[in-house]
Amino acid sequence: MARRSVAVVGGGLAGLAAGLELSEAGYEVELFERSRLLGGRATSFEIDGVEVDNGQHVFLGCCSDFQSFVRRAGMGDRLWLQERFQALVVTRDGTSLLRAARLPAPWHLVASFVRFGALGLRSKLGVARALAAAARNGEARNETFAQWLRRRKQSDEALRVFWTPFFVPALNVPLEEMDAREALFTLRTAFLGDADAARFGFSTVPLAHIAEAAAARLASVHRATSIASLETNADATHLESLVTTSGQRRAFDAFVLALTPPQLRRLLGDPALYGVPPLEIFTPHPIVDVHLRYAPRHPGPGGLFDFAALVDSPVQWVFRKGDGYLCCSMSAADAYYRRSTDDLIRLAWDEVQAIPAMRGARLERGAVTRNPEATFSAPPDAVRPGPETALANVALAGSWTRTGWPDTMESAVRSGFAAARRIMTG
Ligand SMILES: Cc1cc2nc3c(=O)[nH]c(=O)nc-3n(C[C@H](O)[C@H](O)[C@H](O)COP(=O)(O)OP(=O)(O)OC[C@H]3O[C@@H](n4cnc5c(N)ncnc54)[C@H](O)[C@@H]3O)c2cc1C
Repeated sequence: MARRSVAVVGGGLAGLAAGLELSEAGYEVELFERSRLLGGRATSFEIDGVEVDNGQHVFLGCCSDFQSFVRRAGMGDRLWLQERFQALVVTRDGTSLLRAARLPAPWHLVASFVRFGALGLRSKLGVARALAAAARNGEARNETFAQWLRRRKQSDEALRVFWTPFFVPALNVPLEEMDAREALFTLRTAFLGDADAARFGFSTVPLAHIAEAAAARLASVHRATSIASLETNADATHLESLVTTSGQRRAFDAFVLALTPPQLRRLLGDPALYGVPPLEIFTPHPIVDVHLRYAPRHPGPGGLFDFAALVDSPVQWVFRKGDGYLCCSMSAADAYYRRSTDDLIRLAWDEVQAIPAMRGARLERGAVTRNPEATFSAPPDAVRPGPETALANVALAGSWTRTGWPDTMESAVRSGFAAARRIMTG
């Protein structure tokens, strides 16, 4: 019997995860990606002869499906993960280290939090009470995280030094727009569940290499091939074929649409015809990354850090990607992403001077990557679609769909696996 054919539209992590799962289950998978690069928002490209990621991407120890996807693509040994959660928090007055102890959660962070010098005692007690409330109670109301924190009487200092530097970059949304349920989910999953969950990790190879490895497991991949329209049968119960922008028509048994909300809306025309709720409710949020190459004052390991959180800075997180290479990540960067490259390099370089290991270092060159649609959020009361559509042979995937996770690589991979299961059982 001929193998069932599936078209995957979109070669980001969601589409690749769906394709990998379906290929492993014996389906004949063809992927259509409008860009010549694979990986979507989690890709990489060359700037001045150096391959850089489309913005720094981190995952946490709790991102189990993302790690499983990378392993199944044969790239598991290219992921770096901290042995224990550790973050240097840099304020204008100095640095403090948050470091997990070898104790079960949540006790693994207690000793370090008690010693955490960046927060005064009153704020610390307030944060501890909020963390206990997050651990205890069930669902949040339909409210923003800022409202939830106000109800928990968090001080300005706690907002500046703790909640903003950790949650704004994690969800890429200002606290005033952040869905409290997503923030509490992140808090519980990363910090309160399992002592290994909050460990930071990143890919040691440019992200497009992971996407390429996953794509190599599919029957065929059509790059630089945009899908312009879809064609259903006469009574619109099934999708029959897709049409590329160059007019090529291809028929398949089933389809996975792994696009962002605006891209999906453009392709579907009227989402309601597919049983998909309105997609205008999803708001894009920008991320800017500034890549800095520098000569350290003292070469060698003294004072090194993997990852630093900067307080009261438009650069929230700084990653040391290698000797003489920092990636500075600016989340919820609406106020910055239109600024000139030189301006952003200057700004980021000034900000990293607060990190002791950077003092006296000399900037050699910098580059900027900007993403106006880095992640998508929805209002707290929004209905997100899952993989199912009104057409039995069409499944949706995408980091913004109903996976239970915020818009992340983990969510993208989970959505892809869920879409594949939907095709297999549909
Ligand atoms: C700068 C930046 C930093 C980020 N940092 C993190 C992080 O630290 N940790 C984390 O977990 N997540 C991070 N994210 C989010 C993460 O990248 C996304 O959640 C995830 O990659 C989304 O995957 P996706 O497959 O759902 O969507 P996408 O990657 O957007 O994939 C959609 C694909 O569809 C293609 N496409 C669109 N229209 C068509 C068409 N008509 N025909 C064919 N193909 C089409 C697009 O070209 C694209 O490749 C970051 C994102 C950015 C941009």
